[in-house]
Amino acid sequence: MYDAIIVGGGPAGLSAALILGRCLRSVLVCDAGHPRNASSQALHAYLTREGISPLDFLQTARDELKQFEKVSVVQCEVTKATGCDGQFEVTLLDGRVFQSRKLLLATGVVDVIPKINGIMDFFGKSVFNCPYCDGWEVRHQKLAVYGKAERGLKLAKSLKTWSKDILLCTDGPSGLTPKECEELKRNNIQLVIHKIKKLEGEDGKLKKIIFENGDLSECDAMFFNTESHIRSRLLEQFACNFSDEDGVARGKYEKTEIPGLYVAGNILREVQLVIVAAAEGAQAAFGINSALAKEDLN
Ligand SMILES: Cc1cc2nc3c(=O)[nH]c(=O)nc-3n(C[C@H](O)[C@H](O)[C@H](O)COP(=O)(O)OP(=O)(O)OC[C@H]3O[C@@H](n4cnc5c(N)ncnc54)[C@H](O)[C@@H]3O)c2cc1C
Repeated sequence: MYDAIIVGGGPAGLSAALILGRCLRSVLVCDAGHPRNASSQALHAYLTREGISPLDFLQTARDELKQFEKVSVVQCEVTKATGCDGQFEVTLLDGRVFQSRKLLLATGVVDVIPKINGIMDFFGKSVFNCPYCDGWEVRHQKLAVYGKAERGLKLAKSLKTWSKDILLCTDGPSGLTPKECEELKRNNIQLVIHKIKKLEGEDGKLKKIIFENGDLSECDAMFFNTESHIRSRLLEQFACNFSDEDGVARGKYEKTEIPGLYVAGNILREVQLVIVAAAEGAQAAFGINSALAKEDLN
């Protein structure tokens, strides 16, 4: 029986494992190996780690955990999680079963990438979904925004922080009200409603958006804010109060309403930065260790 099992070995899960390892707790981290930012070339906005490769960042974290002999990391998906406080049980895809006193779900979210011909050649290199992560690198450049209606408008306005030259592409009818179209004009945001045929560029660097009517727009980068979903359905196995949009209901130190069950990272739907996910993992670990310590004292 482990003190804690952590499902998800991204920044949130590994950060929790570090704190719990330092508390001499026995910990099993189970990770399926699909971190959200795997397509990205460089991690930004993490103090002291500016520009590091996201995969190197995770490898360094796993290497650092090796010094804590009671912390193990297995690369495997958890397919089932059941039980209650003091007696959680997880089943891995390969059939192995492990038990723990506390359970932390740090399974992240997965982005719905717009269905545009060619987009995967550029995603994470010059097509992004988070201006706070990648806006600075393309500051003052010609930026396209992909999005309809209020979502597109919101992102286009937000990108004015980084560039004056913003083009909103709605890939068909905009879904914007006349008032919202006025707002775009007032803020010098260009609107293009033609259907997009494909993206063109070289070596991951976006250069042109080609529209179905034959028009083209030159641009240096594109941002989108389509939906994202909670990656794992394990929460459903616990009658936990959560939704894709609002994340997971939880209290102090990332404790859910299910005793002994904690959550951390993007699954919470707070600020979706790596440094925040790591901090949430640390908070959950603090909560888990405090609860275990209390239970173990006479
Ligand atoms: C293109 C792109 C670029 C980004 N750039 C930046 C940036 O520069 N700076 C920044 O701060 N943020 C950036 N982000 C956001 C960043 O990726 C997230 O904030 C961060 O990854 C969240 O960490 P997490 O631990 O919550 O989830 P994740 O990193 O997604 O890790 C979750 C882990 O859990 C695993 N998992 C899920 N379900 C299971 C299961 N059932 N069993 C076992 N394992 C499971 C997954 O495989 C994954 O490894 C970027 C995101 C994208 C998409």
